[in-house]
Amino acid sequence: MKRLILAILCILPLIPVQAQFERYFKPQTLCIRYLHSGDFNRQSYRLKDFVLQGQWAGSTQHLIDPFSYGRQKVEVRDAATDSLLYSCSFNSLFDEYRTTKEGRAGKRKSFREYVRIPMPIVPVKICFYSRNAQFVYEKRWELQFEPGRTKMKKILDKQPCRSLHVVEEPSKAYDILLVPEGYAFSDTAKWRKDAERCAEAILNCSPFKENAYRINIRALCEFYVESGVSRDGTGKRRKKTLLGASFYTLGTERYLMVEDMWRLASVCGLMPYDHVLVICNTRKYGGGGIYNFHSTVTDNRYFNYVCVHELGHGIAGLADEYYTSDVAVLDYYPEGTEPPAPNITSLVNFDAKWRDMLDPEVPVPTPAEKQYEDDLGVFEGAGYCAKGLYRPRKSCTMKDIKYDYFCPVCQRAFQRMFDFCCDK
Ligand SMILES: [Zn+2]
Repeated sequence: MKRLILAILCILPLIPVQAQFERYFKPQTLCIRYLHSGDFNRQSYRLKDFVLQGQWAGSTQHLIDPFSYGRQKVEVRDAATDSLLYSCSFNSLFDEYRTTKEGRAGKRKSFREYVRIPMPIVPVKICFYSRNAQFVYEKRWELQFEPGRTKMKKILDKQPCRSLHVVEEPSKAYDILLVPEGYAFSDTAKWRKDAERCAEAILNCSPFKENAYRINIRALCEFYVESGVSRDGTGKRRKKTLLGASFYTLGTERYLMVEDMWRLASVCGLMPYDHVLVICNTRKYGGGGIYNFHSTVTDNRYFNYVCVHELGHGIAGLADEYYTSDVAVLDYYPEGTEPPAPNITSLVNFDAKWRDMLDPEVPVPTPAEKQYEDDLGVFEGAGYCAKGLYRPRKSCTMKDIKYDYFCPVCQRAFQRMFDFCCDK
């Protein structure tokens, strides 16, 4: 009897949430493409279009983002009552650009961005927020969407795809979509092999391994004219590839991202996905990963490591725990603020981070001594700063080139994200 009551108690809260989804949304994806422009002090948004995409891959039970890891956030509110129906936070290249030397000097630049929300069936307001210098969200832009009245585009192209590891319905799984970049028609066999290697690298690494029963991996099979990826940042020698990805993003050689997110939205739009990992057909070392934006990897000797490191950024909102390499962003985590990422802290609000996981015997901050080498602690040096920012363990996949070595704090962040994104 006790077990029965417990089971009923567990089931009860889910019924209203599911009903909430069906009352306001249908399980399809609405993509909002827009131009995000500005510099360190100013920013503006301009709508490109609304696009009706494929099946909704996100949860239908958890609709409000509990993490707020992103520097930007989108909210969907009922136009009639203003009640919050859906929210999701994310980062973008624009967030990084505005903290570079050029961005801080007031040089304005525009970025193509998109967000995806479940398809509303009632009139809604779509509100965009970004964090100010104190990391507090401020509302920047609002759109109205009325189903049946607001003009929407549809994707007409077919999108051929291969299921590499599909174990659950999209709403019950975390859906990763692998997208080929720089693969010509003659590279079809190589793409097949690289996508399989990538799926293996993901599923053999903790905590993906433990969540394999609810991780779907699909590979898009779209090929284009040229083989390889543009190497320079000038655009002069830009190759004709599916997504136009390029090294030297924001001036950093190894930083490889897709800048044309509108194109990415068109290429992937019919597939159900929670995150896109772009595999770039080049041997040159590089990659990138931005939370709820997209991640990239190249076919180099550290392939397995780069895959999961970049997914750390892209899926779990993890920060880099290293502090010695050159990056384009300056003062990315201003003094006196607590970084939103779950795996680094300035100790301004450490209680919100991993204090609950710490052994009380371990000192805070933790000295970089041999006795604490494998312990969970609070080690100085993280997030591109040698001083003032702290990481959870001496080494981790988010700090060093080590495959399958996420620290317990990073593992928990992934676990929480999978719990949130997958319906039970
Ligand atoms: Zn870590």
